[in-house]
Amino acid sequence: MKLVSFDIDGTMIFGVPPGPITPNLVRKAKEMGYLVGSASDRTIANQVELWKEHEVEVDFVSLKHRLPELKEKFEAARYLHIGDSDTDRYFAEQAGFEFLWVHQLPRNGEIHWL
Ligand SMILES: [Mg+2]
Repeated sequence: MKLVSFDIDGTMIFGVPPGPITPNLVRKAKEMGYLVGSASDRTIANQVELWKEHEVEVDFVSLKHRLPELKEKFEAARYLHIGDSDTDRYFAEQAGFEFLWVHQLPRNGEIHWL
């Protein structure tokens, strides 16, 4: 089991600014058995609303600096955070998550990068 946390702004297509990750990719990751959700500077309520609006049933929403709590809550073999900024990298590393730059991921919708 792997847990994948997505930043929103600059990472998700519905972020401001929009990033390259589509709701469909997140849905597909979930179907493949990944634990998926977001960790953003946006409020929890707003993140919940965005996922609902884009019809993705996420396993968690988190504040970016609270990634460590996901490790306590979910047992997983790997923990990843995907984002577009140094802040993402900083909090991911602080929490012991692997960090992936969103713009270094393939754009073809495949998720073999996980
Ligand atoms: Mg961002």
